[in-house]
Amino acid sequence: MRSFLTAFLFLFCTGPALASAPQTYDVIVVGAGAAGLHTAGILKARGLNVLCLEARDRVGGRVFSQPIGDGQYVELGAQWMAFEGQHRLQRLVAESGIHPQTHSQLGKDLALSRGGTRTLKPGALDMSVLAQLDTLQVYLRLNRILRRVSVAEPWRSADLDRVSAADWVQGAAWTKESRDFWTHVINQETCCDSRTLSMLELAQNMATAGEVERLDRAEHYYFPQGLGALFRKMAADLGDSLKTGQRVLAVSENESRVTVTTDGNSYVARYVVLALPPQLMGELGIPSHLAGVADRMLEGRAVKMIAVYDSPWWRDKGFSGRVTSRDGQLDLVVDSSHERTGKGILVGLVSGPRSQAIGERSLADKQEIFKKHIHAAFGEWREPLQFYSHDWTGDVFTRGGYASHRPLGEWTKSQDALISPSGHLLFAGTETAREWRGFIEGALESAERAAAECESLLR
Ligand SMILES: Cc1cc2nc3c(=O)[nH]c(=O)nc-3n(C[C@H](O)[C@H](O)[C@H](O)COP(=O)(O)OP(=O)(O)OC[C@H]3O[C@@H](n4cnc5c(N)ncnc54)[C@H](O)[C@@H]3O)c2cc1C
Repeated sequence: MRSFLTAFLFLFCTGPALASAPQTYDVIVVGAGAAGLHTAGILKARGLNVLCLEARDRVGGRVFSQPIGDGQYVELGAQWMAFEGQHRLQRLVAESGIHPQTHSQLGKDLALSRGGTRTLKPGALDMSVLAQLDTLQVYLRLNRILRRVSVAEPWRSADLDRVSAADWVQGAAWTKESRDFWTHVINQETCCDSRTLSMLELAQNMATAGEVERLDRAEHYYFPQGLGALFRKMAADLGDSLKTGQRVLAVSENESRVTVTTDGNSYVARYVVLALPPQLMGELGIPSHLAGVADRMLEGRAVKMIAVYDSPWWRDKGFSGRVTSRDGQLDLVVDSSHERTGKGILVGLVSGPRSQAIGERSLADKQEIFKKHIHAAFGEWREPLQFYSHDWTGDVFTRGGYASHRPLGEWTKSQDALISPSGHLLFAGTETAREWRGFIEGALESAERAAAECESLLR
């Protein structure tokens, strides 16, 4: 009898708890990159019950700082802050106490092409005078297009969505040199193949920077103490409202709630903000018209390689460390040395279609490619203390970089899908930004918009 009563009492007391629905959050944010962390941080500060779920064991997403000793870092993902216009990022940097540094201006810049290595005056283009004039007139035409594209409603310029960026350049440039230059710049900046990229996508993306000149100085400041510090601070501020190692596998809605399922757990919320790269959203079981847009996104491709030395030895040879190239293995090499510790750091980048084959190679192969490029430029190669690279395309939690883009015709077809709220789903992430799309600043701006949308819906 006693044991029957005990069992009855046990069931009476624990039964309802076992059967009760899981805690319902106001908002669940999926992804703890810049966009997800900032969205969750804003909502938490406004007193909402928020949970941020991150698949990786680290936060920051496409910002991935790698320690190299002495409290210094190199960046396997995002590295630079623009000279002007990125006020959200600037504020976070100031709050976290990390110090910006600029690239060395000393020494000669180099241009590497099949014809050999040439010294360049700062800011000069490696082409004939005629081609330079042609390049300028294409630039002016591009500027005119940017002024007429609406950042908020780009689909109103449907004519541009029917033309690929490559075809637009073909028609706008008179000389082969200028055509090759612009094709290379577009592939490099968008990390995509300009033949598949809509001209509207390119124009809208560039217009989000406000003024084109700002894009020229987007790679101005870098942070030897690591941009990761910003995101570690944002994560600490979230406390228990952040769970890492929680890969979201499915998101399903009914009339009033969304259930988010991870490997082993499920969570319920009134609204969910998807703050992960859009090309990953199609896997989550979101409505098919949205999944279709996600699946059609063009994944950018970029490979970064970093060599760390005791000192910037190339400066002793009179070189700034900056090497541009249109037909070499890498597009760009820059000196990102750390002045405080004196460490010499060379960062190499290759992006767009050419980077695919390189991205898939082993770290040793990548170092060999880097070595040949540096040797061709400086006439010498020295073994680095450390060498790093990260394959963002092969990384299942990013699948591409710097950002993904809409293909031909997509803006006209899907308009603001995967940007504006749909049912109980909201969207953040740099790909949804109206300012500095493709940059950290864009991710932060998108977070502010998504947080405001959440607040307004919850009200
Ligand atoms: C090589 C490289 C260089 C770059 N250089 C610069 C630069 O110099 N300056 C600059 O401003 N920008 C740069 N960028 C772009 C910048 O990194 C991004 O714009 C920005 O970091 C994007 O932030 P986000 O929050 O939108 O997305 P992400 O950083 O991609 O964050 C998304 C998060 O979602 C998580 N996630 C994915 N799937 C799931 C899932 N199923 N469940 C839970 N979580 C999930 C991911 O792990 C990630 O943490 C660069 C990018 C790359 C790749």
